[in-house]
Amino acid sequence: MSKASSGWQTPAGSALRFSPGQLLAGLDASATPGFNGDKAAAAALLFERATVVGALQEKLFANGRSGDTRSVLLVLQGMDTAGKGGIVRHVIGQVDPQGVDHASFGVPTEEEKSHDYLWRIRKALPRGGQIGVFDRSHYEDVLVVRVHNLVPPEVWSARYDEINEFEREVAASGTTIVKVALFVSLDEQKKRLMERLERPDKYWKYNPRDVDERELWPAYQEAYQAVLDRTSTDIAPWHIVPADRKWFSRLAVTELLIDALERLNLDWPPATFDVEAEKRRLESA
Ligand code: ADP
Repeated sequence: MSKASSGWQTPAGSALRFSPGQLLAGLDASATPGFNGDKAAAAALLFERATVVGALQEKLFANGRSGDTRSVLLVLQGMDTAGKGGIVRHVIGQVDPQGVDHASFGVPTEEEKSHDYLWRIRKALPRGGQIGVFDRSHYEDVLVVRVHNLVPPEVWSARYDEINEFEREVAASGTTIVKVALFVSLDEQKKRLMERLERPDKYWKYNPRDVDERELWPAYQEAYQAVLDRTSTDIAPWHIVPADRKWFSRLAVTELLIDALERLNLDWPPATFDVEAEKRRLESA
C-alpha cells in the first residue's frame, strides 16, 4: 500500500454508523473500519485534523458568544478500559478547554437518586456554543442498571423510548448528538487491566470491581445490543468504534466530531460594529 493512498476509504461517519441488525457478537475490536492506514499514518492524520477540529470549535464558540444556541454533544459509552478517558484527553484535548462542557456520570449520589434518572443528565447538557462531552451517560441507566437489576425490568425497559424522546427534544433545541460506543475485546481488556496492576502510576485507575464486571461480559453485550437496536435513531445514531487500537479510536472520534461540527455550516459571526469607523477611531486613539 502506498503512503499516498492510506487514509479513510469510507468517511468515518458512514463506516462506523451502527446499521440496524448489526450484531455485536461478530464485532472485531481490532478492526479499523473505513481506514486503511497504520498507526503512523493515523498519528500523522490526527495531528493535521487537530487544527481542523480546533478551528471549528472556535467558530462554534464565537457563534455561541453571539447568541447562537447550537451545541454539539459527544456521548461516550464503553466497557472499563475501552478508552473513554483517552478520548477525552486526546480528542477533546485538541480544543480550547473553555469551549468544552465536560461531565462524567458515576454511581448516582443520594441527591441524584432522589430525582428521575434524566435529572442529572439535563443539568449537564452543553450550553450554546459549547462542545459537551458525556463520559458515561443516561445509557448507564439501561446498561449497568439492567445488568445488575438495580430497578425492575418494567422500569428499565421503558427507558429506551424515554431516552429516544429525550434526545429528540435535545436535538430540537439545537444540540447535535454524536453517540459513540467504544468496544474493546475481552483479551485486550485483560491486558489493560493487568497493566494497571503492573505499573504503580496506573494503580489509581484500577478498581477490583472491574474484574467482577468482566464476569458479566455476556450480560453487558446483550445490554449494549439492546441499546444499539433500540436507540440508534436518525436524529441521534450510534457509532460503533472498535477500540483495541487506541490510535484508531482516537482518530475515528476526531473525525466524527469534525463531521458534526461541519454539518453546522458555521461562519464567523459578523461584526456588530462599523469596522471602518472603529479602525479610524483606533488610529487616532
Ligand atoms: P470510570 O470507570 O468511567 O472511570 P468510575 O470509576 O467513577 O469511572 O465508575 C463509574 C461507575 O459508575 C461505573 O461502574 C458505572 O457503571 C457506574 N454508574 C454510572 N451510572 C450509573 C447509574 N445510573 N447507576 C448505577 N451505576 C452507575
